[in-house]
Amino acid sequence: MTWQQDAFVHAEQEAPRESCGLLINYQNEDKYIPCKNLALHNDLQFLLDPLDWADTEDKYGKIHAVIHSHPIGTEHPSEADIISCKRSNKTWYIIGLKTKRWFKFKPTDKIETL
Ligand SMILES: [Zn+2]
Repeated sequence: MTWQQDAFVHAEQEAPRESCGLLINYQNEDKYIPCKNLALHNDLQFLLDPLDWADTEDKYGKIHAVIHSHPIGTEHPSEADIISCKRSNKTWYIIGLKTKRWFKFKPTDKIETL
């Protein structure tokens, strides 16, 4: 399975909660690492477990991207997503579970909110 497939399966398993995970490179292969979503309203937002982040970094080194799902609505980032992306200084991917589309953005991208 590709990391995109792994991430999509995780998103399906977590629904109606938002799933979240990290993209790393291990032995020259991109790999999706599923993480826990600690948000109180985890159907509408996500808070990636900082322990999962730290463990992943310890084990695999550089975090290449942050991935989360939108079980409802579209793959388009929310205002909070755009702010958190800038804060994380990482590339982000959003999986639209309903739309089956992906949205990729970087902290430097100018994105119009809906
Ligand atoms: Zn989001």
